[in-house]
Amino acid sequence: MKITFFGAARNVTGSKHLIQTQGFNLLLDCGMYQGRRDQSNQSNRTLPFSSKDINAVILSHGHVDHSGLLPVLVKEGFMGRIYCTGPTAEITKYLLEDSASIQEKDCDYFNSHLREGESPISPIYTSNEAERTFAYFEPVSYFNRSSEWTELNKNIRFKFYDAGHILGSAITFLEIKEGGETKTLVFTGDLGRENLPILRSPEAVEEKAQTMIMECTYGARVHRPIGEVAESLKEAVHFAIRKKSKIIVPAFALGRAQELIYIIHKLIDEKCIPEIPIYFDSPLSQNLTAIFARSAKYFDEEFWEDFGNRRESPFSFENLHYVSSLEESKAINRKQGPLMIIAASGMAEGGRILHHLKNSIGDPNSMVLITGFQAENTLGRKILEGVSPVRIFGWNYDVRAKVAVLNELSAHADQKDLLSRVEETNGLERLFLVHAEISQAMAFKDLAGSSFPGLPIEIPELGQTFEV
Ligand SMILES: [Zn+2]
Repeated sequence: MKITFFGAARNVTGSKHLIQTQGFNLLLDCGMYQGRRDQSNQSNRTLPFSSKDINAVILSHGHVDHSGLLPVLVKEGFMGRIYCTGPTAEITKYLLEDSASIQEKDCDYFNSHLREGESPISPIYTSNEAERTFAYFEPVSYFNRSSEWTELNKNIRFKFYDAGHILGSAITFLEIKEGGETKTLVFTGDLGRENLPILRSPEAVEEKAQTMIMECTYGARVHRPIGEVAESLKEAVHFAIRKKSKIIVPAFALGRAQELIYIIHKLIDEKCIPEIPIYFDSPLSQNLTAIFARSAKYFDEEFWEDFGNRRESPFSFENLHYVSSLEESKAINRKQGPLMIIAASGMAEGGRILHHLKNSIGDPNSMVLITGFQAENTLGRKILEGVSPVRIFGWNYDVRAKVAVLNELSAHADQKDLLSRVEETNGLERLFLVHAEISQAMAFKDLAGSSFPGLPIEIPELGQTFEV
């Protein structure tokens, strides 16, 4: 079989890997590329393969850098099924609709503020095109695993394991019969961590796996323990109280946002932090949180101890406001701090967070709180790295707000977690590192190379094909 890496290759976005075996073309993820506007535009408008030739897709989880180009695949003539867990199907539907609507609104805004020499832009896909994708989803469970294989044809079957990254995220274990032998492959998707709030820890794959395609976002980093998040949040909240100001938090509408709300709720209950109003400003906030509310069987022990056994919802408390309409969103700007605004997108590349940043980034009393990974060339990364001024909606803004980082909450495995994953994978013969910037991947390759001498480790380039 052949594997070609069409995205998340020496990069963290646009996850897309094509497996070709005996005339069957299986696509792992179909993610959107996020980064420089002109580059993303080009990479996202057409897929680097014929969509009509793709027989099936396995989707690891809902985040748009893994799912965001499914509407383009369908638009270009894909006729197969998109396999993912039930929660991933639900989440992805909302995120794709949202992604289309953000593109439509951004285009409208951009086109109505055109300056000399600029041409109008159009969305990569519309809301209608996003909606057409939903009919292709085929939910697969990762419970009752011993009996549950999903067959793609007589030679290819797979099962899912819990990846513990966001609700519904899955590790894929594939078994492929080819030329009289059985080949095995693990695709980790994005891997979570032990002890993250709400979700269960990532599961170990029980079967022998010859080949592994593993994410490596934090191949060079060891995260601060999650327990330290209380101290960092306390500092942020006290800053906002002292300055009567706003804390602006860019976060994926699903994942970090709910974790942050969970932790803040718990810290308020334990009287560790004072209460301030929190606005979860996303048209999707209620829908996505509702998916969480009916997914308790996916949650960990800690959830049951903290809230579940008391039949209390972690996602509702007095000072938490879900903001859906644009009018309500605009009204937050007129409010006096202290307050916190959580809004997407997570890397500040689009969505309502841009309006909040535009309004507060020049105010030295405000704070931008970075809670997740920020890819190269995104606005979030520029703010994180201290670039000033930054461009928002085509205009320059000086960054005077305090910028703080909560990396304890990262939803990605760190170097130690990744190393354990390699160690516990039985019969591993070849490792491909994806979903990482080159410096992170190289650092991990060096470390893993010395820990597991003789194990071939590749860091594929974009478009590179390997025979396995
Ligand atoms: Zn993810």
